[in-house]
Amino acid sequence: MGRKKADDIYQKLFLHSLKGDDDCHGVVASNLLSGEHTLKISQACPIIYHSQELSLANLMKAEIYASFTALKMGLDILKKKENVHIERFMAQGGIFKTKDVASVYLASGLQTKISLMKNTVDGGPFGIAVLASFLFEKQLTLKEYLKKKVFAKKKLTNILPVPDITTGIETYEQNFRKLLPLLKDLTKQENKKIQNLKEIVLQANLDLVRNHLVLFTWGNVSQIDREHKRIIIKPSGVSYDYMTADDMVVLDLDGNVIEGKYRPSSDTKTHVEIYKAHPEVGGIVHTHSTYATAFAQAGRDIPAYGTTHADYFYGDIPCARELTKKEIESDYEKNTGLVINELFHDKDMKSMPGCLVSHHGVFAFGKDGQEAVYHATVIEEVAKMALLSEQINPKVQKAPTYLMDKHYQRKHGKNAYYGQTKKG
Ligand SMILES: [Zn+2]
Repeated sequence: MGRKKADDIYQKLFLHSLKGDDDCHGVVASNLLSGEHTLKISQACPIIYHSQELSLANLMKAEIYASFTALKMGLDILKKKENVHIERFMAQGGIFKTKDVASVYLASGLQTKISLMKNTVDGGPFGIAVLASFLFEKQLTLKEYLKKKVFAKKKLTNILPVPDITTGIETYEQNFRKLLPLLKDLTKQENKKIQNLKEIVLQANLDLVRNHLVLFTWGNVSQIDREHKRIIIKPSGVSYDYMTADDMVVLDLDGNVIEGKYRPSSDTKTHVEIYKAHPEVGGIVHTHSTYATAFAQAGRDIPAYGTTHADYFYGDIPCARELTKKEIESDYEKNTGLVINELFHDKDMKSMPGCLVSHHGVFAFGKDGQEAVYHATVIEEVAKMALLSEQINPKVQKAPTYLMDKHYQRKHGKNAYYGQTKKG
């Protein structure tokens, strides 16, 4: 959808909200844009609650009110408990683009004059730019700087509270407060899930040590929760001896840190790129385990010499191409992920749950972190076996395809019969 078309739709919806009831007639929205700390919840989740019939006008009005609810509740604390006097608010944000809608709701909700400048719709970037330019200010305080340099001689449009809307917003806020315990409960449950995941990822990382795949702090495991859009990964440079679940770092799907006291693993960007390109992957491991890394340093695939290999990997475990000088110098970890994705352009990571990166080490994949560790362990074992086979017989041949097929299919094929059948 083009920008203009989206703007038109927003304008129509905003204007339509004016037809709604001042208190939204029992409709409450919880789409906080910020202010979770004011409400003492760790993360808001979008809920629409309605005790009466839901009309588009009231839904839209509740959505706009919701953007200001936490702000209003926070300011009430300042005003009533801390006796802070508020003269007026300078409003900034795209939400004020449609004239006399959000600005009137905000003025009425806060019972304070709202002033709009010509550039009000520029929003957050304007505020950040003002603060950035203040960094170079040597003489004035921030208050003086704003008064004398930023707002001086600016033509302002003032919006005043509308008493009926103020009353409506008071009722809306009471309804919102009833929803708050539910929001808190939900976020508690979400937190529990993330806490469990941290424990799982910690154990998977410790498995790297137990399975003799890492020395020092080499190696890392991550796991993705696609439903909650989170990646949990080992912190960078923290010793395995002292690592706890709370040391794990929680990221969003772009690799930004959401929670954690440490920096995430330095290989984070590689993990992120692989997760983005491979929805079949739920966990990723990186190691420098000796035998497999020896193949990686030699720039060689690990040949499929036997059935141990074939039970898990359909064909040779491939070694990705070397990264170019430019790829290494520009965005090394991200490019490592892209080179791995390039290697898998015609393969999925289920039938080939691992690979080598030239001159570097091993990446292994699985449905979760634990399975990825399992695959990383198998890679190390089959690399060792392959090397020994070549030493015993330099002319060793790859196992015939029909034998390899048989082993792979009996474990992973449509009619797999290896192991125990699940009791239904
Ligand atoms: Zn590495």
